[in-house]
Amino acid sequence: MISPLRYDYDVVVAGGGIVGTACALAFAGDGLRVALVEGDVLGGGATAAGMGHVVVMDDSEAQFALTRRSQQLWHQLAKTLPETAEFETTGTIWVAADEEELAEAERKHAYLQERSVPSRMLSGRELSNFEPNLRRGLAGGLLVLEDAIVYPPVVALHLARELQLLGSDVVVGRHISHLATGEAQLDDGTLLRAPRLVNALGAEAVACTPGIPVRKRKGHLAITDRYTGFVRHQLVELGYLKSAHSISSDSVAFNVQPRRTGQILIGSSRQYGNEDAALNQAILSSMLARAQLYMPEIATLNVIRIWTGFRAATPDKLPLIGPVADDSTLWLATGHEGLGITTALATAELLAYAFAGTEPPISNEPYLPIRFGTVEPTNTRIHQETA
Ligand SMILES: Cc1cc2nc3c(=O)[nH]c(=O)nc-3n(C[C@H](O)[C@H](O)[C@H](O)COP(=O)(O)OP(=O)(O)OC[C@H]3O[C@@H](n4cnc5c(N)ncnc54)[C@H](O)[C@@H]3O)c2cc1C
Repeated sequence: MISPLRYDYDVVVAGGGIVGTACALAFAGDGLRVALVEGDVLGGGATAAGMGHVVVMDDSEAQFALTRRSQQLWHQLAKTLPETAEFETTGTIWVAADEEELAEAERKHAYLQERSVPSRMLSGRELSNFEPNLRRGLAGGLLVLEDAIVYPPVVALHLARELQLLGSDVVVGRHISHLATGEAQLDDGTLLRAPRLVNALGAEAVACTPGIPVRKRKGHLAITDRYTGFVRHQLVELGYLKSAHSISSDSVAFNVQPRRTGQILIGSSRQYGNEDAALNQAILSSMLARAQLYMPEIATLNVIRIWTGFRAATPDKLPLIGPVADDSTLWLATGHEGLGITTALATAELLAYAFAGTEPPISNEPYLPIRFGTVEPTNTRIHQETA
């Protein structure tokens, strides 16, 4: 019998999405010898399906810390990105439809001001001037100035290339069938060994690490032909906060993004319990109707492509970043739900600091997998959350 090929590394990173490539590059930048393994196409998973909105969120202090730190890292990285990464600091306008939502915009504004995040309130009239295609009569909005837009699959490819330039290995087209106890087994029998393994498999992370509390949350997006200037900022309804935070029911929200190409990306939807990637006509219709409610003229634009993708959701809406309790070699970098583009760079930074044994710029504690207890294949936590 021929024994399988074996290679030794300092770290094996499983998954070549934005999170895996960012982690791998951060480790290699610290002088570690890394293997990055992607079973399909680099940046082709949720990273290609997402909107690429780099957004500061304030659902909790932990969410704020991770999104803000990562956004700052994005602004640094942007200086080195190729033009094709389409990084643009468009800002986000949180659109308030009524007085109740305007009060929420004001609360958010105060929260961001206290933490030195540039933002400003917009009256209904200013909102119309900033975004003339929004319907008349909206109450106002909040402009968050440093929020940005990026085209994530190009960034994932760019980071993987940088990784190779540092002498690390990028293995594409090989699935990992086993990831534990210092070994990553590939589907051609090759064995990659390392004292540290990082599961950055996004919504597929459970397949290699059964029992972790990650569920798929399906989303739909649509993109139009080119209509330069139709939308100028990332626009999100404040009602989005209600729908995105509902962890049980299907939801849609007005969430529209201007691409540098002049195209308009229209989102978004959230669904649990549907792992079929096929388009769902009912969800899609209600998502487009929601967009039309805020921007009536959007109905006149040509949509040229529609797709779905899967977010990796956790019960507390925070990612899993850190070691697994019952395998000293295995670390997680998954569970980023709808914020994995935004938070990929801070995720990589937290793990790189942990590997180096130094204090990170933000506390890693809220994201440690141990908050859900030990990970065992028989753990029923995921099913409990579904109920
Ligand atoms: C509709 C939608 C809109 C979104 N919008 C935004 C947004 O505006 N802003 C934001 O910050 N986030 C957004 N997100 C979330 C974001 O896209 C994800 O959180 C992020 O892409 C996760 O990156 P990842 O690297 O963890 O996962 P992925 O990109 O899915 O990467 C995992 C990789 O692992 C590979 N893989 C899986 N199994 C194996 C295996 N056994 N062996 C080898 N390789 C394997 C896959 O092929 C894949 O490439 C959105 C997501 C969706 C679905």
